[in-house]
Amino acid sequence: MRAVRVTGRTVEAGDLPEPLPGADELLIRVGYVGVCGTDRKLAQRGANPPRVPGHEVVGLLDDGTAVGVHPDVGCGRCAACAAGYDNRCADRVTVGLSRDGGLAELVAAPAGHVVPLGGVEVANGPLLEPLACCLHAVGRLGVVAGDDVLVVGAGPMGVLCMWALQAGGSRVTVVQRSAARRALAERLGADAVLGPEDALNHAPAAAIVTAPGEEPLDYALRAVATGGRVHAFAGTPGGACLDANTVHYRHLTLVGSTGSTLADYRKAVELAGAGAIDLDRMPRTIVSLDGAARGLAEPTSDVFKLIATPGSETE
Ligand SMILES: [Zn+2]
Ligand SMILES: [Zn+2]
Repeated sequence: MRAVRVTGRTVEAGDLPEPLPGADELLIRVGYVGVCGTDRKLAQRGANPPRVPGHEVVGLLDDGTAVGVHPDVGCGRCAACAAGYDNRCADRVTVGLSRDGGLAELVAAPAGHVVPLGGVEVANGPLLEPLACCLHAVGRLGVVAGDDVLVVGAGPMGVLCMWALQAGGSRVTVVQRSAARRALAERLGADAVLGPEDALNHAPAAAIVTAPGEEPLDYALRAVATGGRVHAFAGTPGGACLDANTVHYRHLTLVGSTGSTLADYRKAVELAGAGAIDLDRMPRTIVSLDGAARGLAEPTSDVFKLIATPGSETE
C-alpha cells in the first residue's frame, strides 16, 4: 500500500506492506487524514523505528461503515486511566505516534477506539480528533452558557475551540495578531475579533490560549476578569515562564490539557453529526499522500488545515 513514513528525519511517500490488524483490532481503508503540528513535530524530531504518522484519521470498514479513530489508547488499569485521563496514561499507545497511523491507504486500530461517524460526513471526519481535544479543553475550563470567553490564536485549533465554546453557549472573542487571520475568524463565526494591542470592552470570564509561547499566555492571564480561568492549550517548545503573582493576586485558575478521551471523541461526533458544530466551514487544503509527505517535510504557512486523502490525484 501507499503510505507516508518518517524514517529517521526523512519523510517520504512510498510502498509499505499492509498492516495486519491484531486481536481486537480493525482494518480501516483510509478516506481522509488530517495533518497537524503533532505530525510536524514527529517529522522534525525523527522516528526510529520508522513511523507512519496520522492520528486524525477516518475511513471505511470492510462492511462499508464510515468510522473515525480516537488515537489515544490508555492501558485501562492505571491511576491516570481510572481518573479519566486515559490520554495521559504513561502506558498509552497513540495511533500515528507510538504505532503506525493513517497517512496510508490502510490503518489498523484498536476496535474499542474505532467510532462510527454517524451523521458526520467522511470528508469532515479528520476534524473530529482535533475537535475532541478542544472539547476536552473546554470541559477543563468550566465555562457556562452566557460566559464571555477569549480564544487566543486563530489557527485551526483556535477555530475549533471557538466553535466548541459557542456550541456550549459562550460568546467568543478571538485575539489574533495577523489581520488576515482575524478576518478569517470573523468569517468563521467569531462574535468579536481583536488584535493583541486592542482594548477589550470588558474582561472575559475565561480564555483558551491556542497560540504557543509566553506572550499569548501572559496576555490571557492579564485579560481575563479577576477570578477568571485560563487554559494553556498550546504546548510551547522550550517552555513558557509565567509570573505566578499574576495568578496569585488576580485569583486566577490556570488549567491545561493535551489530547482527548474516547468520550470527548464521541461527543465531537455527536455535536458535528447533529449540526451543532458545522465542520463544513473549516478551510482546508486537500492533498495526496505525496502532497502530505511534502507538507510534512517543508511546512508552509499559507496552508490553514492540511488534509490528505489516499484517493486524491491532487498533488
Ligand atoms: Zn492533531
Ligand atoms: Zn493507563
